Amino acid sequence: MAMDAGDDARERLEVVLDGLDAAVYAADVRDGEILFANRAFQALHEFEPVGRVLRGLVVPLPERGDYRVDPRGLGADDVPCELFDGELPQPRSGRWYHVREQAMRWVDGRIVRLGIATDITLRKQTAEIARRQEERISRTARLITMGEMASMLAHEINQPLAAIANYCNGCVTRMEAGAATAELLPVMQKAVAQAERAGKIIRRIREFVKKSEPRCIAVPVAAILDDALGFVDLDTKRRGIRLALDVAPDLPDVHADRILIEQVVLNLVRNGFDAMRDAEPDERVLTVRARASGERAVEIAIIDRGHGIGEEDRERLFQPFFTTKAEGMGMGLSICRSIVEYHDGRLTVESNPEGGTMFAFTLPVEEAVRD
Ligand code: ADP
Repeated sequence: MAMDAGDDARERLEVVLDGLDAAVYAADVRDGEILFANRAFQALHEFEPVGRVLRGLVVPLPERGDYRVDPRGLGADDVPCELFDGELPQPRSGRWYHVREQAMRWVDGRIVRLGIATDITLRKQTAEIARRQEERISRTARLITMGEMASMLAHEINQPLAAIANYCNGCVTRMEAGAATAELLPVMQKAVAQAERAGKIIRRIREFVKKSEPRCIAVPVAAILDDALGFVDLDTKRRGIRLALDVAPDLPDVHADRILIEQVVLNLVRNGFDAMRDAEPDERVLTVRARASGERAVEIAIIDRGHGIGEEDRERLFQPFFTTKAEGMGMGLSICRSIVEYHDGRLTVESNPEGGTMFAFTLPVEEAVRD
């Protein structure tokens, strides 16, 4: 039978459409009757779709509120127009599709939804794996630093406890000697302050372990530094270290998970302390500096005057389990780097020209993330 030019063109088009991996369909906007479906669409739904109604399939549904503008009311003057662009799951197979729909005039004059659905399951799965990996990294980060923190926690809590015991003993002795209340008051106040300190340390640890997923919000840099450095207060005194805080005024808030970044600062500060263990007393200065790094990031640097890092060690610094310390775990820097990179920042190391080392990392400013 001879075909006219129109039939020929249509047949060619159908061959092309049937050759596509993506599912293509056209359905009447008013009642959802399927007017055309290519081979991939049929394979996807496992039945002959033409003539049936588009429902319960991998397509957006007006009843479900999938559309910004309900296509059922569209007239000839409203088309062509974009109807839908989004991702939908197919519950039966668990696969995901990217679906785009356009409203247009069909060959017989009816207004149709012309849709194309592309399988994006693999992309979704890859993204999900990446997300889980990130979560695992930060969970491991927390667990490992928890292990490391246990000894420090014992130390940190021990100090206020010892102080409280001292103040209370002092009070008891004075009360036994018949001291007046006014004499006891300042001592009791000091005991209270120490108890509050201990409580704060415990609260922080609890917050740290309780969280399951990183949560980035707008945080003032000064608040991160204050909190992290509050943790090493007593250590600073015990080791005879001077902490110099150099925070640029008017820094914008950063977009970060506060607890994780505090952990990074804490790790780097404690490494700096360790590096200055044998430094001359007047050289035991650790500078924590924060300043803008361009318009879209803030740089936080931890600068010590310690023994520095040899060329060979520098290569291996960020590798897990690399440590030069007898009691070290060698996980600190590798975790710090994962956390910083999770925040789209960079952690770098340089020699301090005055002797010692500078670790610096960047964090995106909140504004830049919102753009
Ligand atoms: P750990 O502190 O448990 O050894 P890290 O991953 O934090 O693990 O550090 C790995 C190694 O990097 C340390 O053992 C040390 O040799 C070196 N290092 C880290 N920070 C500094 C620093 N500020 N100065 C000199 N060496 C450092």
